[in-house]
Amino acid sequence: MENGPLFKSIEAVQGALRRGEITCTALVQHYLKQAETHRALNAYVELWPDEALRAAEKTDQLLREHPERLGPLFGVALSLKDNICYAGHTVTAGSKILEGFHSLFSATAVERLLDAGAIFIGRTNCDQFGMGSSNENSVYGPVRNAEDPDRIPGGSSGGAAVSLQTDTCIAALGTDTGGSIRQPAAFCGLWGFKPTYGRISRHGLIAYGSSFDQLGIMAHNPADIALLLRITEGPDTFDSTAISAPAVPALEARARIAYFPETLNSPGMDDGVRSVSEAFLEGLRQAGHEVAPCAFPLLDYIIPAYYVLTTAEASTNLARFDGIRYGYRSPKAQNLEETYLLSRSEGFSEEVKRRILLGTFVLSSGYYDAYYAKAQQVRRMLREQLLNIFRDFDFVFMPAAPTVAWRIGEKTDDPVAMYLSDIYTVSANLAGVPAIAIPAGRHPELQLPVGVQLLAAPWADLNLLQFAV
Ligand code: GLN
Repeated sequence: MENGPLFKSIEAVQGALRRGEITCTALVQHYLKQAETHRALNAYVELWPDEALRAAEKTDQLLREHPERLGPLFGVALSLKDNICYAGHTVTAGSKILEGFHSLFSATAVERLLDAGAIFIGRTNCDQFGMGSSNENSVYGPVRNAEDPDRIPGGSSGGAAVSLQTDTCIAALGTDTGGSIRQPAAFCGLWGFKPTYGRISRHGLIAYGSSFDQLGIMAHNPADIALLLRITEGPDTFDSTAISAPAVPALEARARIAYFPETLNSPGMDDGVRSVSEAFLEGLRQAGHEVAPCAFPLLDYIIPAYYVLTTAEASTNLARFDGIRYGYRSPKAQNLEETYLLSRSEGFSEEVKRRILLGTFVLSSGYYDAYYAKAQQVRRMLREQLLNIFRDFDFVFMPAAPTVAWRIGEKTDDPVAMYLSDIYTVSANLAGVPAIAIPAGRHPELQLPVGVQLLAAPWADLNLLQFAV
């Protein structure tokens, strides 16, 4: 932002509130005003001013009368991606098919954050069902990057990134199936984190690819992410994949970082992004860490494997949107079959339909072995290779994306080019490991933010957050 955010960390917010330098009400008013000022960027699809101000008043009252009762997240204002359920609030996953749908319950993570004193400012725009890399695929229209409004903010959590970039909250909640937190964070100069699969409950997330989806967090620094992770993580009776994080060994002062030369030399890699990435690696070496190349023969297979498996999962997950149970029902339908057919045809975007069809195709009996089973094998090989590397290394370095944020409309007619932009982010989801996007500098010619990524072994999330400063 022009002058940077009012507060750059949760610690700074809470310190100012405790010292009485600002009230929580004034803080939330500031955030809401910022959201109004930057309305044209289309980051929010709905703001919750009355509720947010009421919660802020309650925090102010506690600060005055019962500071000992304040939750660990007092004064923490968050934005919520439009595919995460919040009881009594509309949630549409950026899609017409969920028009008018209200959540009956809150996501477990949302509940835990509210219990800890957090305040939700509003619902952020996203690619329909989290399917996209540019946030152009939303029924509410594209989101614009505050760095350059003619450019995309990244996706699918583009609204989340811009909500933070424009100082309307101190952290943003999103989801990451194949990079939807990390890539927009990289394009907007923020930290973006996807935890180990199973660390945060998926209960209340609108499913895209269930074996890939994780709730993720964007913030101005990794310590804030760690705080929010500790509040939201852990077992949940509503999601059997959410478990307690097993202990992992603490990080030594000299970290060992592997990188894959293939990722830096791949044909789609922009020269400026490469030079920023190389400078980041050089910085790690200068700081005394071990940085070593490692072979990564699977690079060409991970995008196909990711899109085969996620479309397969999406095709079954999205079967529930049938015009009967949730949201939109076509007014033109005359009978049951037309209700399904027209509601789904009119309710889903082109991209969502493309993926449902692709997923149905790769799961069909004649093609299952050739595509779905093969992709599962690639997934297994990738996980094994990464786990092997993590025997000798603490982290794996990857670029976050091959380019900086592109211009709105540049890739909309070419879905394959769009899919290829996810080449560096999908590995973490295929393998279920934690990963963080870190702002690494600016593109030497375009002056736009460049992010890089570090991946860690399963459950080493906190080591990763501690290191990624
Ligand atoms: N861009 C990727 C996709 O379209 C990732 C999206 C996500 O993480 N939700 O599938």
